[in-house]
Amino acid sequence: MKPIELTKRQERIVEIVKSNGPITGEQIADRLDLTRATLRPDLAILTMSGYLNARPRVGYFYTGKTGTQMLSDQVKNITVDHYKSRPVIVQESSSVYDAICTMFLEDVGTLFVVDKHTTLVGVLSRKDLLRASLGKQELETIPVSIIMTRMPNITVCEKDDLIIDIARQLITKQIDGLPIVRRVDFGSGYEVIGRITKTNITSLLVDLAKDEMI
Ligand code: ADP
Repeated sequence: MKPIELTKRQERIVEIVKSNGPITGEQIADRLDLTRATLRPDLAILTMSGYLNARPRVGYFYTGKTGTQMLSDQVKNITVDHYKSRPVIVQESSSVYDAICTMFLEDVGTLFVVDKHTTLVGVLSRKDLLRASLGKQELETIPVSIIMTRMPNITVCEKDDLIIDIARQLITKQIDGLPIVRRVDFGSGYEVIGRITKTNITSLLVDLAKDEMI
């Protein structure tokens, strides 16, 4: 369902339904001096895009929603699953040095850390790694488990969560991304199945703008 730019004829249909609805397709066609068949594609577009509702035996009526309200409805229905990325994972025994190399090679800003059973145990951000590099420590010998943010302090999400709720969490928790997880071990642990970041949310914005909705 996407708010769209309406043609002149579609705008007239919306006006007619607004002032006269519920009204049948036949009656709308009469008012426009057109046939019902000619109007069919317009009515289909207007109902699919949410401007009008149709009830059998009653007719068309106006939903009362503006393009912005429909856009907002649409955004509120998009789940994380639509805009996820592949997770980049390191073992908890990996060194800080290896994690830095992985971050560069994989071109990501957040790494997820797992134990030997592939259960999520930590998160590493760019600044976690920078901070560790400031000291005079041997980066090849320090395991990431020493510097990571660890469970249970990790904010996670599931694939059916709404992207708008995740966007809110990124802002309130001041983090760049969340692991998308699936519960394992009878709900006591998490397997990482994806990643959702500010970049994914920016792509959503670009996709919405492509339709020139508002
Ligand atoms: P940076 O530290 O590079 O600015 P973030 O803002 O993502 O990147 O991370 C800030 C801090 O929050 C870091 O210490 C990081 O380990 C932690 N962090 C990142 N993502 C999460 C998350 N999903 N849950 C909990 N903590 C996180």
